[in-house]
Amino acid sequence: MIANVSHDLRTPLTMITGYAEVMRDLPGENTPENVQIIIDEATRLTTLVNDLLDLSKLQSGTITLKPEPFSLTSCIRTILHRYDKLIDYRFDFQYDRDVTIVADELKITQVVYNLINNAVTYTGADKQIFLLQLVQNGRVRVEVSDTGEGIPQDKLQDIWERYYKVDKEHKRAQVGTGLGLSIVKTVIDLHGGTYGVQSVLGKGSTFWFELPLPEDESQL
Ligand code: ADP
Repeated sequence: MIANVSHDLRTPLTMITGYAEVMRDLPGENTPENVQIIIDEATRLTTLVNDLLDLSKLQSGTITLKPEPFSLTSCIRTILHRYDKLIDYRFDFQYDRDVTIVADELKITQVVYNLINNAVTYTGADKQIFLLQLVQNGRVRVEVSDTGEGIPQDKLQDIWERYYKVDKEHKRAQVGTGLGLSIVKTVIDLHGGTYGVQSVLGKGSTFWFELPLPEDESQL
C-alpha cells in the first residue's frame, strides 16, 4: 500500500519539479501550457491525498456519519450537472420517483460521483452513461452503467480493494487514484447498504448500490 501510494505521489511531484525547473532556466518555456501542466499535476496530488485521508478516517472510525434527510434524486441530478461541459458524452438518468433518504449527503454524493466518474473514464466510444434509480422492497437502488470494455469475472472481487487497478499499464487506469471503489464500499457499508457490479466483457459494466428507505418518507 505505502509502495503504491509513494509511487503515485512521486509521479506528479517529478513532473511539477521538472516543469518548474525548465521554466526557471529557459525563459522561452515559461508558457501558459507548461503552467497548466503544473496546475493539473498539483490537482491530481490533492485528489489523491484527499481520497487517502477520507478513506483512512472512515475506516478507522475517526469521523462519524452525519445522517440528514435529503433528496437522493436531486443529489444525482446535481452531480450530473457537473458534467455539462462534457458535451460529447450522453447521460441518461431514469428514475421512478423523487426519493428522500436519511444519510450523510456529502458521503453519498461522493459515492455517486465516484461511480459516474468511473463510468465516464471507462465507457465505450459511444460515450454513453446510463443511470437508474428504482424503489423496491423498502430500498432504493441506484445503477450506473457504461458501454466500455467491462471487467474480467476473476477481477470483480478485487476492484473493491484499496488501490487495486485492473490494468495498471493502461493510460486510463493512470487517471484514477485506485481508491474510488473502496470509498464506495466503505461508505455504503457504514450506511447499512449493499453494493455490487455486473460486467460483460466487451459490453460494459453496471455498478449498483442499495440503501434502506426511511419507514415513512412523507414525514421527513
Ligand atoms: P480508479 O481511480 O483506478 O478508477 P477505482 O477504485 O474507482 O479506482 O476502480 C478500481 C479499478 O476498477 C479501476 O482501476 C478499473 O480497473 C476498474 N473499474 C472501475 N470502474 C470501472 C468501469 N466502469 N469499467 C471498467 N473498469 C472499471
